[in-house]
Amino acid sequence: MEALTPFYEVNEALVAMGAEKLNLCMQCGMCAGSCPWRIVDGPFNIRKLIRMAQLGVEGYESDDILYGCTTCNTCVLKCPRGVTIIDVVKAMRGMMAEAGTIPGVLKTATGSVHSNGNPWSEPREKRTTWMEGLDVPVFDENTEYLLFVCCTSAYDPRGQKVAQAMVKVLSAAGVSFGVLGEEESCCAESVRKIGDEELFMNMAQKNIKLYQGKGVKKIITTSPHCYYTYTQEYPEFGGEFEVVHYTQLLAELIEKGTVKLSKTLDKKVTYHDPCYLGRHSEVYDEPRALINAATGDNLVEMKRSRDKSLCCGAGGGRLWMETPPEWRFSDLRIHEAIETGATILATACPYCISMLEDSRKTVNKEDEIEIKDISELIAEAL
Ligand code: SF4
Repeated sequence: MEALTPFYEVNEALVAMGAEKLNLCMQCGMCAGSCPWRIVDGPFNIRKLIRMAQLGVEGYESDDILYGCTTCNTCVLKCPRGVTIIDVVKAMRGMMAEAGTIPGVLKTATGSVHSNGNPWSEPREKRTTWMEGLDVPVFDENTEYLLFVCCTSAYDPRGQKVAQAMVKVLSAAGVSFGVLGEEESCCAESVRKIGDEELFMNMAQKNIKLYQGKGVKKIITTSPHCYYTYTQEYPEFGGEFEVVHYTQLLAELIEKGTVKLSKTLDKKVTYHDPCYLGRHSEVYDEPRALINAATGDNLVEMKRSRDKSLCCGAGGGRLWMETPPEWRFSDLRIHEAIETGATILATACPYCISMLEDSRKTVNKEDEIEIKDISELIAEAL
């Protein structure tokens, strides 16, 4: 791959792109030691990548080096010098994006966000397919919450079941909610992680304008990635909304008695903390409270849980990249879940659902464990 920036300018360019704390790194290796790539013995090494960034050394541009990082945030929590490691990765990717040399599959995903409003190369008109046969309210000025469905829940056949379960639960709870249907576009979370800052800013500004024009004040997200983007990133563009991940809202409604569960699922369930709900947003208790409510306290923990949860491997744009079987974190996660004796592996993120469903098949454990979104557990227990 051709060099993008002259050797002596790289560090300066990275700092200008938001990697301000890059030079605090003392090369202790705590980041690489905690990185999930170490568990699978893959080629990605975050300490070496930071060193390359500091020195301006070239050779970091390959798919499995610069684009290996899933932005899971484990290293950031471990770093003793407070290096904003993910910002360094995003800045390095930003240089590639500016030069138009991001990997082809990621170019397809970002190109589709630009043209179709989703990264799945699907037409905008199909965004409402998941709603067929359901009575899903459309958001208007009298609606309390915008239900932001997320591109993966809208288009992916497995994700669509999660969106449908969500509507069933919110309707049963009497929540005032509505969707934007074909007007909904990607929040662009992965666009920013891939490094296309210009497209991210355009999408953020367009979405904020749309929501403000519709009178949106409160948003429910199905995805922790959308939740993080709305709470942590949209405010810098003037997008100030009251945002909840659905697990937070449902846990509150069950606690208050607004949602009543009439059945107890007699199954042992383990929970996979999604990186962007757990480590990035510190939402750990509400998903667990929901699982316990649905199963009569039948939640069992995996050895890696809460802030030590193992990344599924889909963040940072990796969802669209091919990962060889021996490097799939989600395969390991299936084995860890089965070790607990659980027959259901629950999570609360469309990316995690997609990765774990694939791994359940590729490691031949379809008979031993089911993958469920927490909204599906609650819908079953209603
Ligand atoms: Fe550098 Fe922080 Fe990684 Fe240590 S943990 S090598 S200081 S980035």
